[in-house]
Parts: sequence; C-alpha cells; structure tokens
Amino acid sequence: MNIDLSGKRVIITGASRGIGRAIARAFARDGARVAICARDPQAVAETGKELESSAAAVIARSVDVTDTAAVQAFVAEIAEAWGGVDVLVNNAGQGKGGNLDTLTPEDILAHANVLQMGHFRFVQAVVPFMRRQRWGRIIEINALAGVVPTPEGIPSVINRASCVALSKSLGMSLPKDNILVNSLNMGWIDTGQWDRHFKEMGPGVTREEFDEMVMKVVPLGRYGRPEDVAGMALFLASDYANFISGASIDIAGGMGGQIAYFPTLKRDFTESIRQRRENAAQD
Ligand code: NAP
Repeated sequence: MNIDLSGKRVIITGASRGIGRAIARAFARDGARVAICARDPQAVAETGKELESSAAAVIARSVDVTDTAAVQAFVAEIAEAWGGVDVLVNNAGQGKGGNLDTLTPEDILAHANVLQMGHFRFVQAVVPFMRRQRWGRIIEINALAGVVPTPEGIPSVINRASCVALSKSLGMSLPKDNILVNSLNMGWIDTGQWDRHFKEMGPGVTREEFDEMVMKVVPLGRYGRPEDVAGMALFLASDYANFISGASIDIAGGMGGQIAYFPTLKRDFTESIRQRRENAAQD
C-alpha cells in the first residue's frame, strides 16, 4: 500500500509532543504541509523546527483550543497561506480523573471546554474551506473511555463519550460535501501523560511495578507507541479510506471492557503501596 499525501494541507492540534507530534511527523514524512498548534509557544516552535526537515511546509503557532477567536485566526492563516485545508486531526487534550466525591460541575465543564468544544471549534473553523473544495478529512483523537465507561474519571468518561458522539454525528452530516469524519479511540499510549500518572503515585514505587499493574488490562501486554496511532491517521487521510465516515476505531492493544476494571486495580495498587510505606516506616 502506497499512501501519498504530497502537498496535502494538514492541521494537527496538540502536536508539540506525544501522539499529536507522532502524527505530525508521519504526515510530514509523507510530503504533506503540516500546521501544528499547542499552548506552550516554545515547545510548539521546537517541534515546528524539527518538522521543517521533512514536511513540504510548516506553520507552528501557540493556540489554546478553548479560545474561539484564536482557533479561527489560526485556521484562516493556514487557508490563506496554502489556499485551503484538507485534513484536520483534532488531538489536543488530556485525561481528567475524579468521581462524585472529588469533582465540581465547574471541573467537568472546564475539561469539556478543551475536549468537545475544542474539537467543535476546529471543525467549525475548517469545514467552510473543506466545503468549498468538496474534499475534507477530519480525524478525531478520542479515548476508549468514551466508548466503554469506567467507574472513575467522570470528566474523561462523559466528555469523551460526547466527543465520540460528535464524531459520529458529523460523520453522518458532512459526507454529502465529501468531508469524512472518523474517531480513533486511544487505549494506553506511552506519552508524557503516563509519566505524569506514574509520578502521581509518589515515592517508593518503581516504574516497572506501575507498568506491570497498568498492563493487566491490556491483552497485547504493552503500551501503544504514539507511532501506532499515526498509521491509522495516514490511512484515514488517504484515498484508501474514501468510503469510511462515522467509524469509531479503538487503538488499544485489544483492551475493551477491561478498562472498566482499571480504577479498582489502581486503587488496590495504591493501597498496597501505602501499606508498604507504613511497614517500612515501622521497621
Ligand atoms: P500529551 O503528551 O499530554 O500531549 C497533549 C498535547 O495537547 C500537547 O501538545 C499539549 O501542549 C496540547 N494541549 C493540551 N491542552 C491544550 C489546549 N487547551 N490547547 C491547545 N493544545 C493543548 O498527550 P497525549 O498522550 O499525546 O494525548 C493526545 C490526545 O490523546 C489527548 O487528547 C489525550 O487526552 C488523548 N488520549 C491519550 C491517551 C494516552 O494513553 N496517552 C489515552 C486516551 C486519550 P500544551 O500543554 O503546550 O498546550
């Protein structure tokens, strides 16, 4: 299979690191013009500089996906510079934990503003340009927790479910303009996000122990690599995917319903670490 994306005009949100950066690198290697954004101006500029060695052209800007005017200005700049937009990869975001005892409604709304409203803002900004050329591909980076609810992590569960629903709805309404929309639902992909989860465990836990606990719910027995996501993004942007819209594809190493058991697993692990620390303090 030879995927050729030469000259395609591609926007990837949240591409300064992790999954977004891996997708941007893959599009750049395939000859696309790549526009990336994230909040940290230095990090996004560094990634943009790196992409210049392979991409046909690069635009890298500091944009917060919660800022409607900034999103519209970014997309308008790209469309003006390159004459349109072909592909949007809506990736920016992060998971958020919590339950009924720990969350406020405002916590959940703030997370929703980044996730489903961030996705919505970018779709609304790119679609007029895609309609004009009667061609567009929108790839929504979502989470397995939006497809299989878990008993903790309420913001991720409900906000991601809403994102997946948005992808499916757009995947039905936009094909009449030859704009195809699909959702990729992440399992556990090894990025800085997992380094942060590990550090939250505090001292006295090794990364090996933590990973062993996490892998109990992943049939393939390893984290996904950001590059494992990039292949499917390239495929969905290519002519091989001309008749696919409204699809919801899990990239999760075989994990499905097992994800619902993860909060229990993590709570038991945290408790065993707490006991180990207590025993060590008594000795
Ligand atoms: P990551 O390494 O933390 O990278 C997130 C990217 O999004 C960064 O470039 C970050 O840059 C940007 N970003 C965050 N908030 C933003 C905002 N408000 N406006 C603009 N950019 C923003 O995360 P990742 O693991 O690659 O995850 C990528 C996507 O997959 C996220 O939506 C995440 O929730 C989802 N996902 C990941 C996993 C996993 O296991 N890794 C699992 C499920 C879902 P700045 O901080 O500088 O803005």
